[in-house]
Amino acid sequence: MLRTKELQEIKDLLLTMKKEILADLDERIKSSDVSEQRVIGDIFDDADLEQSREFNLLLTARERQKIKQIEQALLKIENGEYGVCESCESDIPVGRLRVMPFTTLCVKCKSQQESMEGHVTTAYVSEKG
Ligand SMILES: [Zn+2]
Repeated sequence: MLRTKELQEIKDLLLTMKKEILADLDERIKSSDVSEQRVIGDIFDDADLEQSREFNLLLTARERQKIKQIEQALLKIENGEYGVCESCESDIPVGRLRVMPFTTLCVKCKSQQESMEGHVTTAYVSEKG
């Protein structure tokens, strides 16, 4: 189980990551000179990001997924469920959480999931190649 201090640290990490994605989006909108500029004000004020259609349209699929993962991790912190593998229910090491704070699986289950989904790790590709 994570200590309160560690949880707070990870919560800060998650919030920073989310802020960075939003800042990127902000930059993109400013530089693309689209009429949706007004949306940005709403985005930063909007607590229910996922409900905002404009917001979702402007994000790439990857960013959407990341925001979702961050939101879920934050929710888990609030509920006291954070840091436990969703698959095997063992504790995820804090070192791993610091690097990937939005992860919901331990290393073992994550690699199992990835092989099931047909993803190949970079190491494996270069070994083959
Ligand atoms: Zn696991």
